[in-house]
Amino acid sequence: MIPYGAIISSYLVAAVLFILSLGGLSTQKTARRGNLYGIIGMALAVAATTMLILGKVQFPEGLGENFSGVLLNDPTTSSVFAVVIGLGALIGAILAARVGMTSMPELVAILHSFVGLAAVLVGISTYMGSGISVPVGGELVHNIEIYLDVFIGAITFTGSVLAFLKLRGSVSGKPLTLPGRHLLNLLMVGACIYLAFEFVTADGHTAVQPLLWMTLIACVIGFHMVAAIGGADMPVVVSMLNSYSGWAAAAAGFMLKNDLLIVTGALVGSSGAILSYIMCRAMNRSFVSVILGGFGTDGGGGSSTKDEDQGEVVTFDIEETVEAMRDATDIIIIPGYGMAVAQAQHSLSQVVDFLKEKGKTVRFGIHPVAGRLPGHMNVLLAEANVDYNLVLEMDELNDDFPATDLVLVIGANDIVNPDALEDPNSPIAGMPVLEVWKSEMVVVMKRSMGTGYAGVQNPLFFKDNTRMLFGDAKAVVDQLLTGLRSP
Ligand code: NDP
Repeated sequence: MIPYGAIISSYLVAAVLFILSLGGLSTQKTARRGNLYGIIGMALAVAATTMLILGKVQFPEGLGENFSGVLLNDPTTSSVFAVVIGLGALIGAILAARVGMTSMPELVAILHSFVGLAAVLVGISTYMGSGISVPVGGELVHNIEIYLDVFIGAITFTGSVLAFLKLRGSVSGKPLTLPGRHLLNLLMVGACIYLAFEFVTADGHTAVQPLLWMTLIACVIGFHMVAAIGGADMPVVVSMLNSYSGWAAAAAGFMLKNDLLIVTGALVGSSGAILSYIMCRAMNRSFVSVILGGFGTDGGGGSSTKDEDQGEVVTFDIEETVEAMRDATDIIIIPGYGMAVAQAQHSLSQVVDFLKEKGKTVRFGIHPVAGRLPGHMNVLLAEANVDYNLVLEMDELNDDFPATDLVLVIGANDIVNPDALEDPNSPIAGMPVLEVWKSEMVVVMKRSMGTGYAGVQNPLFFKDNTRMLFGDAKAVVDQLLTGLRSP
């Protein structure tokens, strides 16, 4: 038998490791270490909780009763528990190993939905069963904890499932803007508050009906909130749901009297909220509107708003691009989703090494929502051993374009679209972008004239100083490398 003190100490160490993990993840140099702290912390937390649930813990006098309902002392239930944990771990490992970098947001969204669903199921079963014994007088607080846990969990569940389907492209990315949708949301929240009153004032555990009605309404709220957001604003939704899943876990922690779950949930909830805030600032969107699910991009996520003829595009071939690279002394590279799809980062890293050897100034410009997840480009460039000092944020670089000889845009589209600044009717209006068109020459590498994630045409391609180099990013960069190396 393990003393209860050891379990509490493990929780404390795990909580500290999670905090160190978040600290480590804040810079590329320490990210690997941060991940390791997180893995060790989670292994410790799972091991300690398993011991607790399997009844292998020696409690001090009187404390064990708190956990009476959740202990699985009989061998059959313990085996079921072991099989379920084993299966979950196996499925998780297979999925994580198989998922492509470009599909990460989908995976993250569906994982958030599991957190939400777990919060709902555990909350309802805690209320209906006898999971946690509550001290006399603590019933009201306990019921509020249950109610909040199920409410946030249900919103997170349906919101995340819809975000998953939108990111996958299984349902349209267009925002659903029902007439009077804010009033509808308000009415639904009002109904949940009324049901909360019914729930907490009921005697014993007799208010299952209000709890289930609220669950249903909260599911609709989650669905409706994410349905109202679309197009290029989806990155913010993913981080917002991340935050919601944290708060759902924290509420579950209060409900289950599990301190580690409270700490972990609060860490996820607050870091997700901070990330949403940073992304909102980067996208020039209002944080409050996002939290309330009300800032859809009318018409975004699928169709171009500009059907008129934008003019002719001028194309470049490999030789012409190599020539331009040889002539330039100051070069900025803008990677986007297409570089990730083509996995062109390793060849690109070699191109950069070559250009630096020739004495050129080469830098990367990273847009906060480039690719399909926050930090997507940074991860890929780090994987290809690109020097961190060459990788700059949009704000650090935007003033330098007028003095730049050549910009190479590799598989990026929305993040270099001038319409974001110039066309107030564009679905991405107001989103800050990399102002590449201010440089001497821009070469855009992509396969076709196809649109990006937001589904809008890009006037950059038609500008006088823009040249289009069509082809798969990896194949094109490989050919550029061969061209540069040949005398
Ligand atoms: P975009 O999706 O706007 O554009 C990518 C471009 O890459 C496409 O136009 C496509 O053109 C091209 N492309 C695709 N495959 C290849 C390939 N193999 N070789 C060469 N080019 C290729 O990407 P950006 O990075 O510019 O912008 C990100 C967008 O995604 C933003 O709208 C952002 O809001 C959204 N988003 C971001 C998230 C995040 O957290 N970062 C999460 C979810 C969405 P073509 O088909 O002609 O080759």
